[in-house]
Amino acid sequence: MPPDDHPFESLREQLDTAARYVDIESDERAMLKYPERMHEATLTLELDDGSLDQVRAYRVQFNGARGPYKGGIRYHPAVDPDEVRALAGLMVYKCAVVDLPFGGAKGGVVFDPQDYSERELERITRAYATEFRPLLGADRDIPAPDINTGQREMNWIKDTYECLENTTAPGVVTGKAIESGGSEGRVEATGRSVTIAARELFDRFDRSLEGATVAVQGFGNVGSVAATLLDDLGATVVTVSDSTGAIFDPTGIDPADVDRFKAETGTVVGYGDADERTNTELLTADVDLLIPAAVGNVIDDELASDVQADVIVEGANGPLTPAADDVLDDRDVVVVPDILANAGGVTVSYFEWVQNRQRFSWSEDRINDALETTITDAFDEMIRVSEDREIPSLRTAAFVIAIERVLTAMEQAGKRAKHG
Ligand code: NAD
Repeated sequence: MPPDDHPFESLREQLDTAARYVDIESDERAMLKYPERMHEATLTLELDDGSLDQVRAYRVQFNGARGPYKGGIRYHPAVDPDEVRALAGLMVYKCAVVDLPFGGAKGGVVFDPQDYSERELERITRAYATEFRPLLGADRDIPAPDINTGQREMNWIKDTYECLENTTAPGVVTGKAIESGGSEGRVEATGRSVTIAARELFDRFDRSLEGATVAVQGFGNVGSVAATLLDDLGATVVTVSDSTGAIFDPTGIDPADVDRFKAETGTVVGYGDADERTNTELLTADVDLLIPAAVGNVIDDELASDVQADVIVEGANGPLTPAADDVLDDRDVVVVPDILANAGGVTVSYFEWVQNRQRFSWSEDRINDALETTITDAFDEMIRVSEDREIPSLRTAAFVIAIERVLTAMEQAGKRAKHG
């Protein structure tokens, strides 16, 4: 199989590319590329009809040099150890590039939630929290939502952990409902950081988002919020999609109205007078800004040569294969990488964790202001490093910053020989 089909190999390739700009011996590179530990378990649960079922579950703790391990839990039939390792590694460098005091982790359970009742989902989630309880804790490893998990699952994990530990510990997970210790602004945070990253990049090119045309793949949590906020900034969202297809209207689509339509019908397709398109047509549409915010590996090297957007801001994790990155670099298409652009989610998760520890709630304005500062500071640093060290790819510049922060913490902990 080509490396692009292996997310963990793709991550290692990105790290190797960035490591060329970092003061690191070649035999030290394994520290960056392999997880500290990987846990695997078989969860047994009782189904509603009284029979027993078993599902495979994973938790990868990739690197904890900068703080407690942090990362979501994914429920999907395609979850596999390679993907969980890759996503755990991405979390290390995502937290580091926006300078959060967290390491990186990821969890996954191999099953299709649609095949299970709500009671059964609760049993699976509680079994996961029970099995991995010794690893978890507000100072150890802090899960969060990912694909097919959300506030409901996080509330169950918190409750399971608190019952087993005979304590209250809201900071053991983030992404909880507000009433269970969640944070204002968490739901919108990732779409908001994608929008901030797009705005900053346009500013750098002395271009305005006012009137810029935008394509958004994946009209879910991240995509719908980014589309709505970009529309608020005066951009014209001309095409959006979900897994059922894309819609296109050159005069502009009202994202808030599409959101209402999708909530009623379950799809964006069929909205108003917009034309129906395919997801491939969306990704190659002639727009100023493309935001892939659905799933990974949607643009490979072949499709990359047909991309017409000037700028790509990654909402999803890993939407471009490394080979696509090379093609887009050659064609001077600027890419703002996932580890910075979609870091809004983990940033507000960090604010949630801080509020849980303080036992104090921040206002939504305070959250959004702090998020704005975190993302713009990280963006400015990425541009500075890219210019000062002549690193053409913003992804590589972002990884260089993140790698150096992780290595410094490892050196200070005595886990790496002293450099410099
Ligand atoms: P979501 O489930 O709310 O939305 C995903 C959307 O993508 C849905 O509209 C779905 O129909 C669509 N989709 C799925 N497969 C598709 C395909 N093959 N082609 C086109 N559309 C497709 O998920 P989300 O929370 O918005 O996350 C989207 C992406 O962003 C994921 O890659 C996720 O890992 C990443 N991400 C999310 C967050 C967050 O805070 N939600 C944070 C960081 C990264």
